[in-house]
Amino acid sequence: MKKIVIAIDGHSSCGKSTMAKQLAKEIGYVYVDTGAMYRAVTLYALRKGLLNNGNIDEARLQDDIDAGLVSVSFRFNAEKGRPDTYLCGELVEDEIRQMEVSNNVSPVAALPFVRKFLTEQQKAMGKDGGIVMDGRDIGTAVFPNAELKIFVTASAEVRAQRRFDELKAKAEADKNTPMPVYEEVLKNVEERDYIDSHREVSPLRKADDALLLDNSHMTREEQSQWLLEQFKKAIK
Ligand code: C5P
Repeated sequence: MKKIVIAIDGHSSCGKSTMAKQLAKEIGYVYVDTGAMYRAVTLYALRKGLLNNGNIDEARLQDDIDAGLVSVSFRFNAEKGRPDTYLCGELVEDEIRQMEVSNNVSPVAALPFVRKFLTEQQKAMGKDGGIVMDGRDIGTAVFPNAELKIFVTASAEVRAQRRFDELKAKAEADKNTPMPVYEEVLKNVEERDYIDSHREVSPLRKADDALLLDNSHMTREEQSQWLLEQFKKAIK
């Protein structure tokens, strides 16, 4: 059977990755979290001191990318049943989820040379199909011909609460992870929505042919079932 491309886009923290990951597992497709790629480049910039108080040293970041010094890759983690993100060969899966990265990722993701660098890799990953890719511009820019496109959203408050609960659980399990503050998480979600939707290159928007899913009042189980049904219809 032909393996299709499934593009799942939407706002920050609306549970896209959870849905996408689960679907990929059920149907035996590869899952790619493109947000993790933008987060990894942001972590690189932070570590190299190229990001200070919201100012990005664009020239140096571009030089490093052009010189091949920034590499982002995934390796499947069998224990967790999902891919882990690596930056220049180092496992950074937890670090890229922290607030410092979340607070800086959207301006980095708005840089055209960063988008070009990462979208080329994403296109290569999905060229043979059999992929579930989540992000902001997958159905509009990376795979405009994807056979199944979903646009997920939920209210900012619901999304902030979900992200807050996740960060809190991590902080409780690991004393080196700072305890989140709900208001800060909400502010971050709203700021990222704004920057992601207003940037010049590939802004976040629903593709005309994407199916809209507002999951504010849906359980994970309901979302998974809905998504699986859409997949079955798409491959018919
Ligand atoms: O999906 P996640 O929230 O981890 O993505 C982090 C950030 O990366 C987003 O807020 C957005 O700024 C950027 N992003 C993007 N294009 C994508 C995926 C993520 O601009 N395809």
